[in-house]
Amino acid sequence: MRRAWLPALTLLVAALAACQSANAAAVVPTRVERLGSSAQGRPITAVVRGYPGATRNVLVVGVVHGTEPAGLAVIRALRYAVPPPGVRYWLVAAANPDGRAHGTRQNARGVDLNRNFPLTWRPGGARWSTYFPGPFAASEPETRAIMALVRRTRPAVTVWYHQHLGIVVRPTTYRARQVAGAYARVSGIPMRPYAALDGTASAWQARVDPQGAPLVVELRAGALDPAGVRRHVRAVAAAARRATA
Ligand SMILES: [Zn+2]
Repeated sequence: MRRAWLPALTLLVAALAACQSANAAAVVPTRVERLGSSAQGRPITAVVRGYPGATRNVLVVGVVHGTEPAGLAVIRALRYAVPPPGVRYWLVAAANPDGRAHGTRQNARGVDLNRNFPLTWRPGGARWSTYFPGPFAASEPETRAIMALVRRTRPAVTVWYHQHLGIVVRPTTYRARQVAGAYARVSGIPMRPYAALDGTASAWQARVDPQGAPLVVELRAGALDPAGVRRHVRAVAAAARRATA
């Protein structure tokens, strides 16, 4: 007889848990901050999500190359996710809104933004060539907007979404490798080494802030399905917890 209560009790507990989690998601303070403007004047913005006492920042950047938009679905879902305790999410849907609008890898001036960052910058090529790094290091407004954000927030983890290799790039430092490993395990995307490239955002970050863990996540070609989006949302949280533990 007592067992007849169990299904009803289970349902009640599940409903309460869902209710609590929905409330928690609803009350996480969220604001939008303008970081700068693209070459064509489009706003570059961050959705900032976290409780006032959060002391560790986690930056997630969706579109650096305008032809690689799969990370946008993860960013959209993260806007409704509850960050781990003590963590604040900085969600930048597009560091390259002009490339996103025009469907180009480069920004509106024909520059590959992920070759335009300083410290490891190298000249080469012409505008609109695939990897044109710009006329000089940090020549592009999009690059400078992201650099200013990184310098200000010192993210414990940064996730840079690209496509289409289907790997989490294996970082060279032990600490970042632990964080990348957590991301890889939860997302189901393998961690693999990849060539060190000049002028990338992650290489610049690794030098200016050795305590941070800049992760390059190369999603597979095409769009993520809903289960894939959920896995990547959990992977961001797992990487954040690993970096801030
Ligand atoms: Zn890319």
